[in-house]
Amino acid sequence: MSLFEHGRWVAGALLDAFLPPSCPFCGLDVERLGACGGCLDDLPWNRVACRRCAKPLATDETLCAECQRRPPPFVTAIAPLRYDFPVDVALKAVKFRARSYYLPVFAGLLCEASEALPTNVDAVLPMPMHWRRWAMRGFNQAVELARPLAKHLDVPLISSVSRVRHTAFQSGLDTRARRSNLAGAFQLTKAISAAHVLIVDDVMTTGHSCRSLALTLRRAGVREVSVLVAARAGGV
Ligand SMILES: [Zn+2]
Ligand SMILES: [Zn+2]
Repeated sequence: MSLFEHGRWVAGALLDAFLPPSCPFCGLDVERLGACGGCLDDLPWNRVACRRCAKPLATDETLCAECQRRPPPFVTAIAPLRYDFPVDVALKAVKFRARSYYLPVFAGLLCEASEALPTNVDAVLPMPMHWRRWAMRGFNQAVELARPLAKHLDVPLISSVSRVRHTAFQSGLDTRARRSNLAGAFQLTKAISAAHVLIVDDVMTTGHSCRSLALTLRRAGVREVSVLVAARAGGV
């Protein structure tokens, strides 16, 4: 690289640092939580949801039918958004096209939503990703979201569980196949001293991964587990 090019690169980087950050959805100036006010207002907020698994509900019931029938092994799950447009597009862009500029918005929303969590959460665990997928993608979006959240909650970020089985993609499988696809998918790699672990992920689809991970944690002696995800699919 010539000096001139190097100089131009430095000037460009300096300019970026001084320009106000722009909303990743529309390019306007950021107002709060890493986005502009209009785009934040228009997001598919998950206002009426199951208190236990965050599934969007049509009416203000406390629990969805599935949680009434088969309560999950976690105390509560919170998802500020529904997995609808433009959240689905943005989260896929983060994962498959490394569009990391959406991450601060979702991290900010998770920090804000964490106010509703039980106050005794004492560790944050990002949903583990199998090493092969991690190697292919180069990062785990759950870790990127969990890191600022752990800082916000002032609790340790732990990585004491690994995904031992490279689970087949869940979409295309029926409920029974999804469940057996996930059984034994996680393994403890280090003892956990925390009493209430918070699982963090970008999106919860069926909830089977969260149920399976929460079971692994409970079997390892963790007293309580909660879940916080940016977006929840399914429901209404
Ligand atoms: Zn915007
Ligand atoms: Zn539920």
